[in-house]
Amino acid sequence: METQLCMKDLVAFCKRKGFIFLSSDIYGGLNGFFDYGPLGVELKRNIKAAWWNSMVHEREDVVGLDSSIILHPNVWKASGHVDGFSDPMVDCKVTKMRYRADQVFYSPVRINGEVVGYICVADGENRDAEIEKKVKALLKSVQRAGECIDALQLKPLTEAKPEEYALIPSPATDKPGDLTPPRDFNLMFQTQVGAVASESSVAYLRPETAQGIFIHFKNVVDSTRVKVPFGIAQIGKAFRNEITPRNFIFRSREFEQMEMEYFIPADEAVWQELHKQWIETRYDWHCSIGIKKEWLSLDVHKKEDLAHYAKACTDIMFKYPFGVQELEGIAVRGNFDLTQHQKFSGKPLEYFDEERKQKYLPYVIEPSVGVDRTLLALLVSAYDEDEINGERRVVLHFKPQIAPVKIAVFPLVKNKPELVEKARALFKRLQKRWYTAYDEAGAIGRRYRRMDEIGTPWCVTVDFDSLDNHTYTLRDRDTTQQTRLSEDELIKFFEQHLA
Ligand code: ATP
Repeated sequence: METQLCMKDLVAFCKRKGFIFLSSDIYGGLNGFFDYGPLGVELKRNIKAAWWNSMVHEREDVVGLDSSIILHPNVWKASGHVDGFSDPMVDCKVTKMRYRADQVFYSPVRINGEVVGYICVADGENRDAEIEKKVKALLKSVQRAGECIDALQLKPLTEAKPEEYALIPSPATDKPGDLTPPRDFNLMFQTQVGAVASESSVAYLRPETAQGIFIHFKNVVDSTRVKVPFGIAQIGKAFRNEITPRNFIFRSREFEQMEMEYFIPADEAVWQELHKQWIETRYDWHCSIGIKKEWLSLDVHKKEDLAHYAKACTDIMFKYPFGVQELEGIAVRGNFDLTQHQKFSGKPLEYFDEERKQKYLPYVIEPSVGVDRTLLALLVSAYDEDEINGERRVVLHFKPQIAPVKIAVFPLVKNKPELVEKARALFKRLQKRWYTAYDEAGAIGRRYRRMDEIGTPWCVTVDFDSLDNHTYTLRDRDTTQQTRLSEDELIKFFEQHLA
């Protein structure tokens, strides 16, 4: 298994090549917000197009939707977000650092069964090294340095007993009692609609795109010819005031989701088979766009960990540089959402199933994936460093369908007008159909390296022979092999490989 690039280098690479910038960079950035640069925006568009094609255009049972970001506030009361969309939070009273309580781990430190103190660390890339450091410091402070300790029993802070709070140190100061007890923090961003700010004008930026789909279930049934089982898909921004945004674009406060609600008969016998099918379909899609299969895995949620209304949930996990984490969730939500919206809106949302001769609120299977987490998994999967003729190069092995730039056209040299003219004519022709770059600056080898580094699958060089016989050199990014092709052959080649 190949090793991965560390996050620090990946973040620097993304900035250097124009994939991802800190939001408001010149003002020092805004924690939890990111902007996509010239290459990032292309990559993102290609991911969304690949998802939309596979989820909507290539199927007969799924239609699309684009709902507004701000919905009627009652939507979020009905869905349970106003009361329950929260994470447990603790604050360090001294440093004012804020942590998600389930991402802070503590353990008593024992010597032969005797508790000599507690350590506490925030989860992160260097957790193990931090623990070692904190244990050493604790032993020194209680004058037991160098003694052997019993095995630590790390637990998230959410599992601490109230009588333990005063004993557990803050991860920032290492002093017991500096942390507040955990309390719930609602993750929805609030805003006001209209000129007069009052309680009735409170609205929320959507924390997920899914509810916009549920509330249009009836409109879609009535306006199209869909029949259960069918899906409604949506891609759009979601906002969560995450307590500790971290790991670059993995957990941000503004992100994009690709969600689909697949409505199925409210029948216990049906959902298990369809859930299994959707997990397979989604897993295969991730592989098909170039996410490394060996870094993907499934996490089947235990029954006791499910939300009260959920029947099952399986996450597709990816081995990010900071650990194995959720990339996509595929949940079976029963008919909780439609039931709630029917109750809160007072509008009947039941579906009449002509085949079954039954009226019911359908169950739903929900594959939900973040565009940003997909993009990060793709970058990590594609990034590679190798050696070509003794020279090191960085290369992104993007699949052509996903690569931001598909083709680059170069004249061999820039000071020969006839070469430049021919290269530009070819560039203009290709540009009409595929995102193509034109580059005449520097030695040809360096131009190849620049394109390898951003994952461009093919470069076409126009040289002196091209003037005589109208053939060009097609160079492949992964093999670096070069082939001589006529213009028509080139077009045919790209048509075949970029269909
Ligand atoms: P996590 O447990 O990691 O917070 P979640 O289970 O709350 O995620 P869902 O509510 O199921 O996430 O959201 C569906 C998908 O949206 C996730 O699988 C992920 O790809 C994406 N997502 C959720 N929160 C964020 C975020 N803060 N930043 C980027 N993507 C996110």
